Amino acid sequence: MAKRFEIRLCENQNCGLRYPLVKGHPFGERCPVCLGTTKPVQIGSLSEETPNSTVETPLKIEALLDNIRSAWNVGAIFRTADGLGVAKLHLCGITPTPDHPSVAKTALGATTNLDWVYSRNALLTARQIIESGSHLWALEQDDRAVPIYSAFKWDGKPIALAVGNEVCGVDPELLDLCERIVFIPMLGKKRSLNVEVAFGIAVSALRATIPE
Ligand SMILES: [Zn+2]
Repeated sequence: MAKRFEIRLCENQNCGLRYPLVKGHPFGERCPVCLGTTKPVQIGSLSEETPNSTVETPLKIEALLDNIRSAWNVGAIFRTADGLGVAKLHLCGITPTPDHPSVAKTALGATTNLDWVYSRNALLTARQIIESGSHLWALEQDDRAVPIYSAFKWDGKPIALAVGNEVCGVDPELLDLCERIVFIPMLGKKRSLNVEVAFGIAVSALRATIPE
Protein backbone atom coordinates (compact mmCIF):
# COMPACT_ATOMS: atom_id res chain seq x y z
CA MET A 1 0.00 0.00 0.00
CA ALA A 2 1.38 3.35 -1.01
CA LYS A 3 1.70 5.91 1.75
CA ARG A 4 -0.43 9.01 1.33
CA PHE A 5 0.66 12.56 1.91
CA GLU A 6 -1.03 15.92 1.84
CA ILE A 7 0.19 19.28 0.65
CA ARG A 8 -0.99 21.78 3.27
CA LEU A 9 -1.28 25.54 3.06
CA CYS A 10 -0.99 27.88 6.05
CA GLU A 11 -4.13 29.99 6.39
CA ASN A 12 -2.33 32.84 8.12
CA GLN A 13 -2.31 35.65 5.51
CA ASN A 14 1.11 36.86 6.68
CA CYS A 15 2.62 33.39 6.31
CA GLY A 16 1.22 31.26 3.47
CA LEU A 17 3.70 28.38 3.91
CA ARG A 18 3.06 25.43 1.59
CA TYR A 19 4.50 22.10 2.79
CA PRO A 20 4.03 18.32 2.57
CA LEU A 21 2.64 16.27 5.45
CA VAL A 22 2.69 12.47 5.48
CA LYS A 23 -0.76 11.22 6.45
CA GLY A 24 -1.02 9.48 9.77
CA HIS A 25 1.60 11.66 11.48
CA PRO A 26 0.22 12.74 14.86
CA PHE A 27 1.52 16.30 14.49
CA GLY A 28 2.07 18.74 11.70
CA GLU A 29 -1.33 20.21 10.97
CA ARG A 30 -0.15 23.35 12.71
CA CYS A 31 2.09 25.47 10.48
CA PRO A 32 5.75 24.59 11.25
CA VAL A 33 6.76 28.24 10.70
CA CYS A 34 4.04 30.36 12.36
CA LEU A 35 2.00 27.67 14.20
CA GLY A 36 -1.14 28.93 12.44
CA THR A 37 -3.92 26.69 11.15
CA THR A 38 -3.39 24.97 7.80
CA LYS A 39 -5.65 23.29 5.28
CA PRO A 40 -4.98 20.42 2.89
CA VAL A 41 -4.85 21.60 -0.73
CA GLN A 42 -3.66 18.47 -2.47
CA ILE A 43 -3.32 14.71 -1.86
CA GLY A 44 -0.48 12.57 -3.17
CA SER A 45 0.91 9.09 -2.67
CA LEU A 46 4.46 7.95 -2.04
CA SER A 47 5.59 5.20 -4.36
CA GLU A 48 8.15 2.72 -3.10
CA GLU A 49 8.48 1.22 -6.55
CA THR A 50 10.88 2.47 -9.18
CA PRO A 51 8.93 4.39 -11.80
CA ASN A 52 8.64 2.57 -15.07
CA SER A 53 11.36 4.59 -16.78
CA THR A 54 14.20 2.09 -16.87
CA VAL A 55 16.26 2.44 -20.02
CA GLU A 56 18.37 -0.24 -21.62
CA THR A 57 21.90 0.95 -22.24
CA PRO A 58 24.85 -0.79 -23.87
CA LEU A 59 27.33 1.39 -21.98
CA LYS A 60 28.63 -0.55 -18.98
CA ILE A 61 29.97 1.76 -16.28
CA GLU A 62 31.94 0.73 -13.20
CA ALA A 63 33.49 2.98 -10.58
CA LEU A 64 36.67 2.92 -8.56
CA LEU A 65 36.34 4.74 -5.25
CA ASP A 66 39.83 5.30 -3.89
CA ASN A 67 40.35 6.53 -0.36
CA ILE A 68 36.95 8.15 0.08
CA ARG A 69 37.05 9.08 3.75
CA SER A 70 33.40 9.64 4.56
CA ALA A 71 31.02 6.69 5.03
CA TRP A 72 28.18 9.11 4.28
CA ASN A 73 29.73 9.94 0.88
CA VAL A 74 30.22 6.26 0.07
CA GLY A 75 26.60 5.48 0.98
CA ALA A 76 25.38 8.33 -1.19
CA ILE A 77 27.55 7.10 -4.08
CA PHE A 78 26.07 3.60 -3.69
CA ARG A 79 22.57 5.02 -3.92
CA THR A 80 23.44 7.19 -6.93
CA ALA A 81 25.31 4.35 -8.64
CA ASP A 82 22.35 2.01 -8.19
CA GLY A 83 19.96 4.62 -9.58
CA LEU A 84 22.15 5.35 -12.61
CA GLY A 85 22.77 1.69 -13.44
CA VAL A 86 26.45 1.45 -12.49
CA ALA A 87 27.42 -2.22 -12.73
CA LYS A 88 30.05 -2.51 -10.00
CA LEU A 89 31.95 -0.49 -7.40
CA HIS A 90 35.62 -1.11 -6.64
CA LEU A 91 36.30 0.19 -3.13
CA CYS A 92 39.95 0.83 -2.37
CA GLY A 93 42.26 2.02 0.42
CA ILE A 94 40.49 3.58 3.40
CA THR A 95 37.11 3.70 1.61
CA PRO A 96 34.53 2.26 4.04
CA THR A 97 32.58 -0.74 2.71
CA PRO A 98 28.87 -1.53 3.23
CA ASP A 99 29.93 -3.40 6.40
CA HIS A 100 30.12 0.08 7.94
CA PRO A 101 26.66 0.92 9.36
CA SER A 102 26.70 4.53 8.10
CA VAL A 103 27.35 3.37 4.53
CA ALA A 104 24.40 0.99 4.63
CA LYS A 105 22.19 3.62 6.26
CA THR A 106 22.94 6.37 3.72
CA ALA A 107 22.68 3.96 0.79
CA LEU A 108 19.02 3.19 1.67
CA GLY A 109 19.24 -0.43 0.58
CA ALA A 110 21.37 0.13 -2.52
CA THR A 111 24.30 -1.84 -1.07
CA THR A 112 22.38 -5.11 -1.47
CA ASN A 113 21.60 -4.51 -5.16
CA LEU A 114 25.03 -3.43 -6.27
CA ASP A 115 28.07 -5.60 -6.87
CA TRP A 116 31.18 -4.36 -5.04
CA VAL A 117 34.70 -5.54 -4.23
CA TYR A 118 37.34 -4.19 -1.86
CA SER A 119 41.08 -3.87 -2.28
CA ARG A 120 43.65 -2.13 -0.11
CA ASN A 121 45.68 -0.78 -3.04
CA ALA A 122 43.90 1.02 -5.87
CA LEU A 123 46.87 0.66 -8.23
CA LEU A 124 46.45 -3.15 -8.26
CA THR A 125 42.71 -2.73 -8.89
CA ALA A 126 43.39 -0.20 -11.65
CA ARG A 127 45.75 -2.59 -13.44
CA GLN A 128 43.19 -5.41 -13.19
CA ILE A 129 40.49 -3.16 -14.63
CA ILE A 130 42.73 -2.21 -17.56
CA GLU A 131 43.76 -5.86 -18.15
CA SER A 132 40.09 -6.86 -18.20
CA GLY A 133 39.65 -4.68 -21.27
CA SER A 134 37.85 -1.73 -19.70
CA HIS A 135 38.73 1.89 -20.15
CA LEU A 136 39.90 3.50 -16.92
CA TRP A 137 39.10 7.19 -16.60
CA ALA A 138 39.52 9.52 -13.65
CA LEU A 139 37.31 12.37 -12.52
CA GLU A 140 39.73 15.09 -11.45
CA GLN A 141 40.86 18.67 -12.02
CA ASP A 142 44.18 18.31 -13.81
CA ASP A 143 46.17 19.96 -16.62
CA ARG A 144 45.47 16.91 -18.78
CA ALA A 145 41.75 16.81 -18.00
CA VAL A 146 39.12 17.27 -20.71
CA PRO A 147 35.53 18.43 -20.11
CA ILE A 148 33.28 15.43 -19.53
CA TYR A 149 30.65 16.87 -21.86
CA SER A 150 32.97 16.59 -24.87
CA ALA A 151 31.71 14.03 -27.31
CA PHE A 152 33.83 10.93 -27.03
CA LYS A 153 34.21 8.33 -29.68
CA TRP A 154 33.07 5.34 -27.69
CA ASP A 155 34.22 1.90 -28.83
CA GLY A 156 31.72 -0.23 -26.90
CA LYS A 157 34.10 -1.24 -24.10
CA PRO A 158 33.10 -0.75 -20.45
CA ILE A 159 34.27 2.42 -18.72
CA ALA A 160 35.50 2.48 -15.13
CA LEU A 161 35.47 5.92 -13.55
CA ALA A 162 37.90 6.60 -10.70
CA VAL A 163 37.19 9.16 -7.99
CA GLY A 164 39.51 9.99 -5.13
CA ASN A 165 39.84 11.39 -1.65
CA GLU A 166 37.71 14.39 -0.62
CA VAL A 167 40.79 16.46 0.26
CA CYS A 168 43.73 15.09 -1.77
CA GLY A 169 41.83 14.05 -4.90
CA VAL A 170 42.85 11.09 -7.04
CA ASP A 171 46.22 9.51 -6.14
CA PRO A 172 48.78 10.91 -8.66
CA GLU A 173 50.02 7.45 -9.64
CA LEU A 174 46.44 6.26 -10.18
CA LEU A 175 45.88 9.33 -12.40
CA ASP A 176 48.92 8.33 -14.47
CA LEU A 177 47.40 4.88 -15.06
CA CYS A 178 44.15 6.38 -16.33
CA GLU A 179 43.65 6.57 -20.04
CA ARG A 180 41.67 9.79 -19.77
CA ILE A 181 41.08 12.40 -17.10
CA VAL A 182 37.74 14.23 -17.20
CA PHE A 183 36.41 17.19 -15.28
CA ILE A 184 33.03 18.85 -14.81
CA PRO A 185 33.18 22.44 -16.10
CA MET A 186 32.32 24.80 -13.23
CA LEU A 187 30.72 28.22 -13.56
CA GLY A 188 30.35 29.35 -9.96
CA LYS A 189 32.84 30.96 -7.60
CA LYS A 190 33.28 27.80 -5.59
CA ARG A 191 35.12 25.55 -8.01
CA SER A 192 34.62 22.22 -6.39
CA LEU A 193 31.76 19.83 -5.75
CA ASN A 194 31.07 17.28 -3.07
CA VAL A 195 32.44 13.93 -4.30
CA GLU A 196 29.06 12.16 -4.47
CA VAL A 197 27.47 15.07 -6.34
CA ALA A 198 30.39 15.15 -8.80
CA PHE A 199 30.10 11.37 -9.23
CA GLY A 200 26.39 11.60 -10.08
CA ILE A 201 26.90 14.40 -12.59
CA ALA A 202 29.81 12.55 -14.21
CA VAL A 203 27.97 9.24 -14.63
CA SER A 204 24.92 11.05 -15.98
CA ALA A 205 27.11 13.02 -18.38
CA LEU A 206 28.73 9.83 -19.68
CA ARG A 207 25.31 8.34 -20.31
CA ALA A 208 24.19 11.50 -22.11
CA THR A 209 27.28 12.23 -24.23
CA ILE A 210 28.00 8.73 -25.45
CA PRO A 211 25.53 7.75 -28.17
CA GLU A 212 23.43 4.79 -27.11
ZN1 LIG B 1 2.27 29.71 8.79
